[in-house]
Amino acid sequence: MDALAKTRKQINTSSRVAERTLPVDRPSREQALEAVRTLIAWAGDDPDREGLLDTPRRVVDAYGEWFDGYEGDPGKELSRTFEDVQGYDDVVMLRGIEVESHCEHHMAPFLGKAYVAYVPDEKVVGISKLARVVEIFSRRLQTQETLTQQIATAVQEPLEPKGVAIMIDAEDRCMTTRGVHLRHVSTVTTQFSGVFKHDIGLQERFLNFCSRK
Ligand SMILES: [Zn+2]
Repeated sequence: MDALAKTRKQINTSSRVAERTLPVDRPSREQALEAVRTLIAWAGDDPDREGLLDTPRRVVDAYGEWFDGYEGDPGKELSRTFEDVQGYDDVVMLRGIEVESHCEHHMAPFLGKAYVAYVPDEKVVGISKLARVVEIFSRRLQTQETLTQQIATAVQEPLEPKGVAIMIDAEDRCMTTRGVHLRHVSTVTTQFSGVFKHDIGLQERFLNFCSRK
């Protein structure tokens, strides 16, 4: 495993999501442009053809956007918590957060929605921060299972809530456009902790909120 892959692995398996670093040996933009030219030629086209001349630049810019989650810090996003909840002790939930991610096996997009809920125990967090955490983790190379788990851990650590529930419902382009070519199939992943794990009634309420139009 080279140093870059190793660093990525550390990022993905780190339980302390706040403690992460960017790879020190990140290739240059020039090297990235050259790599795209190589892939175009490997696909069977001519990278010097007029219509493709600007493609490496566009692809590299797109990568910059799709994968800017490596520069984000979910721990920092959730570091500001509020304790004045005036006795509120029920579910806080953010529904239908857009998920735009890429599978780590084919770098193909998977697109869907995330549902994030927690039952606070003294601390709450700005609700938009939950969406930001989903975005940061999504904009890395992922599996849907890992993504689901990482969001759950990121919410759990700073808030220490009574429970966390995460659901992601997404369509995987590497399944619809290649291999088995399964259309209109979505993958659902869930992760429950604390009261959501042990209180089946609460878990059902969460799933009902997820499916409500
Ligand atoms: Zn894939």
